[in-house]
Amino acid sequence: MTIRQTEHIIRGEDASDGAGVKMKRVFPTQRVALIDPFLLFDEFGSDDPNAYIGGFPDHPHRGFETVTYMLAGRMRHFDSRGNSGLLTAGAAQWMTAGSGLIHSEMPEQTDGLMRGFQIWINLPAKEKMIPPRYQDYAPEEIPVTTLENGTVVKVVAGEAAGIIGPVNGVSRQPLLVDVTLPAGTSWRQAVDEEATVLAHVFEGTAEIGGKALGTTQMAVLGQGDEIELKAGPLGARILVLAAKPIGEPVARYGPFVMNTREEIEQAFEDYRAGKMG
Ligand code: FE
Repeated sequence: MTIRQTEHIIRGEDASDGAGVKMKRVFPTQRVALIDPFLLFDEFGSDDPNAYIGGFPDHPHRGFETVTYMLAGRMRHFDSRGNSGLLTAGAAQWMTAGSGLIHSEMPEQTDGLMRGFQIWINLPAKEKMIPPRYQDYAPEEIPVTTLENGTVVKVVAGEAAGIIGPVNGVSRQPLLVDVTLPAGTSWRQAVDEEATVLAHVFEGTAEIGGKALGTTQMAVLGQGDEIELKAGPLGARILVLAAKPIGEPVARYGPFVMNTREEIEQAFEDYRAGKMG
């Protein structure tokens, strides 16, 4: 087994998106455009309604997948095909936008804490125009296990610590795991050698792949087939992501991610013509 070493550390930057939702954006930024196949990673969290209440009113997506994982608060989802759902604390939504839809993601609470993540994962050319698909999982549908050393592992997608997450049939064979490590403990997990692997510390501090990370910092890991996370003196909570890279050209404009500029123009045309969703 080869433990993956940390090649880069990325720090979340203050950003705002949707109708004024404040967040920490880890990427894309000026320095990091994407980490194939991951296109975006946002951490949002505030107990000030002004920082989230505007939500994300109607907007389109085409050519990739959006993943929302909530830690606190409630988010209502509606789309142009008549689908709707409510994401509560601990819930996850894996949306394959494929050929496209128009949706809104709106907070359903007017006070209290709202906290979670949004992650975008690219699709390869041959899957960009597949029909949209949703996978919504309530907190009780997402398995959790507690290891001997007190480490708590919650698996949204893929397999870790002997349990399998509910997300199925998506393109990049992803792993999405929420790991809570008590102070001073460590956790090792086998990962696909071919996958891109990221580890985002969102509480406490940790040593990952030989480097020290603080809160709201992400490790981009190098080659290997195993990862090791070590919690600092205050413990740590870490989101681990893995997915197979695509290796195709990326043409990207706002909510559309395709392979060529022409396909982006087509996406705008379809959106304006009301052909999206
Ligand atoms: Fe969206």
